[in-house]
Amino acid sequence: MMPTTSPLFDPVLTAFAACPTPVIATDCQGRVRLWNRAATELLGQQEREVLGQSLPTPSEAQRQELDLNCTADLQDVGAHDFLQHWKNKTGDTIRIRIRVTPWFGPTMVRRGAFLMLTPVPAPGLSDATVLDAERTGLIEELDRARKQAYEAQRFRVLLEAAPDAIVKVDPHGHIVLMNRATETLFGYTREELLGQPVEILVPATSRGAHIGQRTGYWKNPQTRPMGRGLTLSAVRKDGTEFPVEISLSPVDAGGEMRVIAIIRDVTERRRIEQEMRAMEDRFNRELKDKNAELERRNREVEEADRLKSEFLASMSHELRTPIHTIIGFSQLLMEEIQGPLNEKQQRFVNHIHHDSQHLLELINDILDLSKIESGSLELQRETFPALAEMRNILEGIQQTAESKSIDLKLTAPEDYVLHADIRRFREVLLNLLSNALKFTPRGGSVAVSMSPASEPGFCRFAVRDTGVGIAPEQLDAIFDKFYQVGSTTKGVREGTGLGLAITKHIVELHGGQIRVDSSPGSGSCFSFTMPLDSGGRW
Ligand code: ADP
Repeated sequence: MMPTTSPLFDPVLTAFAACPTPVIATDCQGRVRLWNRAATELLGQQEREVLGQSLPTPSEAQRQELDLNCTADLQDVGAHDFLQHWKNKTGDTIRIRIRVTPWFGPTMVRRGAFLMLTPVPAPGLSDATVLDAERTGLIEELDRARKQAYEAQRFRVLLEAAPDAIVKVDPHGHIVLMNRATETLFGYTREELLGQPVEILVPATSRGAHIGQRTGYWKNPQTRPMGRGLTLSAVRKDGTEFPVEISLSPVDAGGEMRVIAIIRDVTERRRIEQEMRAMEDRFNRELKDKNAELERRNREVEEADRLKSEFLASMSHELRTPIHTIIGFSQLLMEEIQGPLNEKQQRFVNHIHHDSQHLLELINDILDLSKIESGSLELQRETFPALAEMRNILEGIQQTAESKSIDLKLTAPEDYVLHADIRRFREVLLNLLSNALKFTPRGGSVAVSMSPASEPGFCRFAVRDTGVGIAPEQLDAIFDKFYQVGSTTKGVREGTGLGLAITKHIVELHGGQIRVDSSPGSGSCFSFTMPLDSGGRW
């Protein structure tokens, strides 16, 4: 309910009009609303002379001091007293103690202030001493009043500048103070809100519960957020609801407890939180879809890979038979058993023989790789001394090395017993050695060595050459299938580009590791580990 009674017809005013104590009432603008008979008797002026006027103080400074005291936030301090010198009806200066108390209407709306005047009789001292004492007293009063006014002003400035809505509520739940942000946030004017139950700001559905909670707060009043963990809502004058965060603090206002509620509009934060949650949900959904899609693709790729390996395996197998025939018959022709060939024919047959052998190599490699990739290559592990095998292999390539004047060395401090597939072991070593010979220029050297590996149960083999070397950015790729970096020392691209891919697979199938250290111009060193027989050495 908003106040409807005009200040002129306030019953309190009527009561004070007849009061034997001099009482003056001023409105919020400092204009006189009541000047009772006792005031007339003390000061001389009639009510009709001063009604609606500023206070008829002896000086402008006194009037300002009075105005400041009358309009200050008196709810907090209750009544307060100060002294002023006024003139009585006979024109003598008298000392008056003025007590100021706030004037509230029936709905707690502030209407102004009451000033109760009490003449202070001068003590029995000489006039000069009295005047001195009075002057000192007045200066002190003035100082105190200034400080109070300054504090009140500072408080007001801070309150008004606060970005959050701040309302002060008395123990009956009435709003007794609020700032500008409250007006802006809730859409009410100050006059509409002051004196109203604070539930006016609470949505209708929560008002009942709020009254209970408010009463409960007084049992344990302390600074804390309101409704911890709950989503709180407030309601504007136009009925719209919005999310808020509220923090409560009890304050002692001159012996009476009040609560200050700081209300923050969190609409924007909630909107961002919701957007973020929605984004996260969308992201998770998309991620899930993408993962499912990826899984499906992976399965398709695996299936395609398996089919490809199967196809390559069967195709290579089918191709090998006619190629063997071509190699066999071209060899027969080269041996000239069926009659001599002229020089051109010999050259042609040589080409047929050489290229079909290369084709056979390629087919064998493809077959091997597809077996490895489809998981159908099974190792035939056996126990054998490594040194003898190494010597055999070196013997096999000795002629090629000599033809390029490459020095072939073997360093094996001890003979190790391997537990491996002997045919595959030969293949690995032979592949590394033939690469070393292929990529090392005439007069270079290739050294093979065997030593214990840092990994227990394994032995390390290394093939080191003084060849062309490999650029750092190519080092990982050379183990990929069909990867060839550059030409051999003959300036051609010999080989299939499958050798190292197969070699790596074979080493890893044995549980070993292969690595390369190389740099262009200073040669390469390929090393790999192979499992030892539990006995270790021969
Ligand atoms: P390729 O049949 O072509 O030799 P590999 O898989 O055995 O196929 O080798 C792949 C590539 O790695 C080669 O083409 C070559 O560029 C490089 N490579 C292998 N070994 C050596 C080496 N010892 N020195 C320099 N480059 C090498």
